[in-house]
Amino acid sequence: MSKPKLELVALRKEYDNGAVVAVDDIDLTISAGETIALLGSSGCGKSTTLNMIVGLEQPTSGDIHVDGQSVVKIPAGKRNIGLVFQDYAVFTSMTVYKNLAFGLEIRKKPRREISKAVFEVAELLGITERLKIPARELGGSELQRVAIGRTLVTKPDILLLDEPLSNLEAESRLAMRRELRRLQQEIGLTIIYVTHDQIEALSLANKIAVMNAGKIVQVELTTEICRRPGHVFVAGFLGSPPMNLFQGRFKHHADQLYFEHGVFSLNLSSTLNLVSIPSGRVILGVGPESLRLVSPGSGDASGLVSRVETMGSERVITVEIGGQAVHILDSAAVLPPRTEEAVDIAFDLNTLHIFDADSNLRIDLHETKVDHCEPAN
Ligand code: ADP
Repeated sequence: MSKPKLELVALRKEYDNGAVVAVDDIDLTISAGETIALLGSSGCGKSTTLNMIVGLEQPTSGDIHVDGQSVVKIPAGKRNIGLVFQDYAVFTSMTVYKNLAFGLEIRKKPRREISKAVFEVAELLGITERLKIPARELGGSELQRVAIGRTLVTKPDILLLDEPLSNLEAESRLAMRRELRRLQQEIGLTIIYVTHDQIEALSLANKIAVMNAGKIVQVELTTEICRRPGHVFVAGFLGSPPMNLFQGRFKHHADQLYFEHGVFSLNLSSTLNLVSIPSGRVILGVGPESLRLVSPGSGDASGLVSRVETMGSERVITVEIGGQAVHILDSAAVLPPRTEEAVDIAFDLNTLHIFDADSNLRIDLHETKVDHCEPAN
């Protein structure tokens, strides 16, 4: 592994004299050339983290290292870290050229150097033809390119992107996503990408750091995080729809191991390593693709269909089981059940995820083969 480009060390930010803990002692290491997504719902502390990295906010405690050196005492403009917001921050009355040149002009760089950098970046972003026109004549995704370009001309060490695509229409968003992936590959920048959109995180980042209530709950390779969510929060957050989570207990009875939910019971002896499992409270995670609708009386649990939604070639069926809405992913090719219909569901016992009910952390009992939230493109 290459040396860390950026390290956050027990980084903390409190507001209102400690009444709000926006970022709660987070540790994160990012290698040079890596793209990491900070993924989490609104208010979980993503922007505050970025603002501390770039220098717009001072941490309450903890440290930020770039190439092994602390940067917390270095003012924002001198850190060589670029930040692009969702609001483009493009000067619409200026030409595209002027916008791109702006950061270098205020640094009083020679005109020749500025012009070279602007043309290089414009070429990279495919906006060379647009350099002479006022930015107000550009469409949403072109404006966002200019915003990214304005940062790139200053050759930042690290690029921070804060929800950069959320103001774009779906189509432009897809195109910009592809563009960002290409940029990453071509210039090998170290990027931190903040988003609440898991598809964006899954399709752009090498690694995902899932945040909740100011903490990082899991950092994992994008290719692994859906296969092996390490925390109940991650299991319940990733995937569309996300995993079903069932509270219950493990019970040993007559040499057999059961998951007792209260409304249904599963015999797990054939799939789990019995010896290593203590009795006690657990949370069972079951992806919607690991559940099947079967005829009443022949499954593991019974319920009533409350909703049927078709999305392309797939269908999400919601079944109420003991007051819990359980999501099942089915092929749209088969005949859908009716709402209020009584059905049974069958569990694929080889693809279960198990979490400790006290720590909410994953208990690894067997290999899970199913990736339950493959990124879309
Ligand atoms: P996110 O980017 O994930 O939406 P933020 O980092 O913006 O989250 O906010 C994290 C928490 O800190 C939220 O509860 C927010 O209300 C609070 N917060 C952010 N900025 C301030 C501030 N200047 N003063 C008080 N509370 C703030």
